[in-house]
Amino acid sequence: MTSAAETCAPDIAAGPGAVAVGSATHDADRRHVWHPFAQMQEYLALPPLAIASGRGGWLTDSEGREYLDGNASVWTNVHGHNDPDLNAALQRQLAHVAHSTMLGLTHAPGAELAAELAGLAPPGLGRVFFSDNGAGAVEVALKMSFQFWQLTGRPEKTGVIGLAGAYHGDTFGTMAAGDSGFFHARFRPWCFPAAHFPAPLCREWGAQVRAADSTASLAALRALLEEKAGQTACVILEPSVQGAAGMRLQPPGFVRAVAALCREHGVHLILDEVFVAFGRLGPMLVCADEGVTPDFLCFAKGLTGGYLPLAATLAREEIFAAFLGPYESGRAFFHGHTFTGNPLAAAVALENIRKLRPLIADGTLRSRIACFGRLLDATFAAHPRVRELRQRGFAAALDLTPSRDSAENFPVAARTGLQVCLRARAHGLLLRPLGDSLLLVPPLCLDEAELAELVHRTARALDDVLPN
Ligand SMILES: *Cc1c(COP(=O)(O)O)cnc(C)c1O
Repeated sequence: MTSAAETCAPDIAAGPGAVAVGSATHDADRRHVWHPFAQMQEYLALPPLAIASGRGGWLTDSEGREYLDGNASVWTNVHGHNDPDLNAALQRQLAHVAHSTMLGLTHAPGAELAAELAGLAPPGLGRVFFSDNGAGAVEVALKMSFQFWQLTGRPEKTGVIGLAGAYHGDTFGTMAAGDSGFFHARFRPWCFPAAHFPAPLCREWGAQVRAADSTASLAALRALLEEKAGQTACVILEPSVQGAAGMRLQPPGFVRAVAALCREHGVHLILDEVFVAFGRLGPMLVCADEGVTPDFLCFAKGLTGGYLPLAATLAREEIFAAFLGPYESGRAFFHGHTFTGNPLAAAVALENIRKLRPLIADGTLRSRIACFGRLLDATFAAHPRVRELRQRGFAAALDLTPSRDSAENFPVAARTGLQVCLRARAHGLLLRPLGDSLLLVPPLCLDEAELAELVHRTARALDDVLPN
């Protein structure tokens, strides 16, 4: 019998290079799923992998094989999979209600989480606008900034300034504010214009700063602001680490210097902490740790410990106040998503933060991070295939090279980074490459033995694919 779905499915799933797989999951996946950020022709030619369950930092596939989750299920996981406390928080809320809207109504987990986030943030960021993904959180901040200037008699302030190499998501506003080159270039004609200033120079090996220079970067930002501040709504920045750019690090003091320039020139500062917050770099929030108060602050990835889609945009009280007035004034912020502030996600986020606080306070995270750094350094410092190692917190990038003595790169078509990550599966490790860089972004729950496994298995996969 042929189902309607099978009839309309194209033949590419069974086309040249396709791997024959028996299971119903793989069959349905290959016929019907269009995967994010994937060249589907390549995906369909690769051995499929379906995750069936997880526990702690480990995932198990449909065949029963175990893998260390080396990218924290795309940079989201904090306390591990199937965490008993997060599960219980979710089940408690599930027994009450799974979803009810925040459009015109509220609910306990949403209100409590807003208060919790406002308490974590630097003083003044008292208003929390929920959404359900990182790009959404950034879009909200951009739109609020744009509207604020209209509401306060400065409608000409519409421009956006971002950092070179920035990634803020894949929607139009976030593509415009970002600078992801190859990924987004074709959509430029549909994006609003934005200016970008060069990233600071930060040459590190592991967590050791060898050379850091923000001078040219900050001078370029100052020049842009001197020329355009009157037409600029906001500067947007991923503070401390630009994750999707390949773990590009900023020297200490850089965020604070950017914030000072924004204040001096009367433009908003949006900090996109979608990747770096909730212990990813060690502290709960980067801005609080650096003593910087932005005008807007964006969270997503780690907010629910990697359980459910939830995002939040925090705004300063004075900004919120500008949107107030009688309904017919039209000052309201007309933006929202159906599942905004979902109660299940909010309940899990509260439990995530409750569990995370002591791990930061008692130094547990700090010592795991130091251990991760030592392991990376010991394993890759002299590795002939690693040109550069960048690490801050539980975020690391290894740039692969054919030879350390030359500036040569691997041919793009060789997909070297991907080959190493595919090989890592054979060693029980899941990783995702960024071009020919390996990104190691473990769940924060990995203990020292598991961190050693992560680094050791990465090295074995690398040595298998690129023998010395
Ligand atoms: C992942 C990411 C985003 C986008 O988040 P989504 O939930 O994927 O939309 C935005 N900013 C940063 C810094 C990110 O790392």
